[in-house]
Amino acid sequence: MSADEHSKVGSLSAPQALTPSNTMSTSIPLPVPEPNADSRAYWAAAREGRLTVRQCLACGERHFMPRGQCPVCWSDALEWIDCSGFGTVYSLSIVHRAPTPDFAAITPYVTALVALEEGPRMYANIVGPGALESVIGDRVRVVFERRGEAGMQIPQFTRVAGQSGGSAA
Ligand SMILES: [Zn+2]
Repeated sequence: MSADEHSKVGSLSAPQALTPSNTMSTSIPLPVPEPNADSRAYWAAAREGRLTVRQCLACGERHFMPRGQCPVCWSDALEWIDCSGFGTVYSLSIVHRAPTPDFAAITPYVTALVALEEGPRMYANIVGPGALESVIGDRVRVVFERRGEAGMQIPQFTRVAGQSGGSAA
């Protein structure tokens, strides 16, 4: 890195600059997503704090991950829709062994398949208070975890307060 570059990003390199109190940000150097042609709009929305899925204009199917064609009818007539951010834990596992050294500082952590209110299911981590007590059926809401120095935000989920393990009747 040149001296010039360093002066430009210097303030962003300070951990406190990356951890505003209202985000789930960590200062741990976890992997940062690399958007491709299919996912660029998804990640751009996430940077704005919006969780989106694609909906097929031909058959109405909604899907996740972002793809260029409908997985049901193969139409490429797709639109983006904003999600409520709420969902339910469909399945989960607690990771006790870090997959790479980068993850050691946050292990153990919860990886879950979350059924969004809009229908599609997506993988994410359950983070925040009580995350390790998560169970199938928990109601969760999206939070955005900032990663890297370019403002990338990853949709994660946190348990909705005032519930215990899907027992709400
Ligand atoms: Zn379709």
